[in-house]
Amino acid sequence: MTEASITVEVVYRGIFQKTLAQRICRAIVLAARKRGHTGTAFARYGDSPERNGVPAKQFAVVAVNDIELEASMAKYEPAVVDVSIAVDDTLVKGVESWAWYGRQPIWKPVRKDGFLLVTSEKTPDEVLSQTDTAERPFSLVVVPGAASFAGLWVFKDDHTDYRVLGALAKVAPDWVRLDDVKALIKEQTKDEAAVQSAQYGYDGARIRPVKPGEGTSGHEKLQFDKPGWTTMRPGIVVDARKPGERNPFYKKYSARTLRPVVNFDTCIKCTMCWLDCPDECFEVTPEGHYEVVYEACIGCGICAQVCPVKDCIVMVDELKFDDNTNKWDLWKKDRASYNQWFEKMSGVPADPKAVARASTAATNASPAANPTTSAGGDE
Ligand code: SF4
Ligand code: SF4
Repeated sequence: MTEASITVEVVYRGIFQKTLAQRICRAIVLAARKRGHTGTAFARYGDSPERNGVPAKQFAVVAVNDIELEASMAKYEPAVVDVSIAVDDTLVKGVESWAWYGRQPIWKPVRKDGFLLVTSEKTPDEVLSQTDTAERPFSLVVVPGAASFAGLWVFKDDHTDYRVLGALAKVAPDWVRLDDVKALIKEQTKDEAAVQSAQYGYDGARIRPVKPGEGTSGHEKLQFDKPGWTTMRPGIVVDARKPGERNPFYKKYSARTLRPVVNFDTCIKCTMCWLDCPDECFEVTPEGHYEVVYEACIGCGICAQVCPVKDCIVMVDELKFDDNTNKWDLWKKDRASYNQWFEKMSGVPADPKAVARASTAATNASPAANPTTSAGGDE
């Protein structure tokens, strides 16, 4: 934040949270106008066309006057922001977007002593434990609430935007006042519950100062040196992937809010997951099982939907995992340890007899747990 302007970005899951991000950025500008500031909200060109779950960004820039706003807009895609807002806590594991190569820490554009707001039902320490090691001080602000998903043409009005605006008013009161946020929401919705959600975001936001060195060094670096024009091959040839080879430069796992875990003991080797996975994430094992390649999986949940065996594939919160190691090797070497891991992560029994006893319902219970498939999607 300078005295003349503030830049806020919203990091969100492409398509599913696009309307949410738009509403937040627009409301920031409208609330700031109530105290005489000017501003503009815009999406990042490089994210278009958006893809399901792939991280994307929108921005709000607010300034004391039009001249300062124009000066700020000279950086059309701000490289440095005062506040970054992540509307899905699994985004703290890093962001790999259309707009650049590699995976970036969620705090990358946040300036020294800036703010990272994350909507989450977890504690600040739990969120920080999955955030890349900080290189400069900032404040982590956890806004109460789970990730809000909807499709492209619908909006799930669960008040996430109001809670985020309330929390923003707490950390940037010189630019966005709580009273202005509440007045704006009242005008737009005529709904006192929506106004109270802003107050709840303000009161419930937990602020955790982060020092350099805090966070995790466990995430993959995934950064590349791009060739300059003098080092490109004649004709600017780009190698195609060879059959069976996966793209080492674009891994897709940062598109994931939930990941599938597989119970190999109840799998009937029907091939449905392998056939229906839109990203060809399954490898066939020598035993004829289908194991998920976690670096390639986007977490769409289709495999869990098509699997005919109850709780054979369960979608699990991505923040429960520390790495992308494939798991079939562990099952092969030490089935008991694998099954313990499966039960711990999924919360359902791995033992086929226990599964059969629990399986009074004929359908697989897992898909409804996936907000990105149950709530809409790429219509
Ligand atoms: S969730 Fe299942 S179907 Fe979707 S990308 Fe991952 S492995 Fe494939
Ligand atoms: S869909 Fe389920 S039962 Fe069929 S192969 Fe995949 S994991 Fe096994």
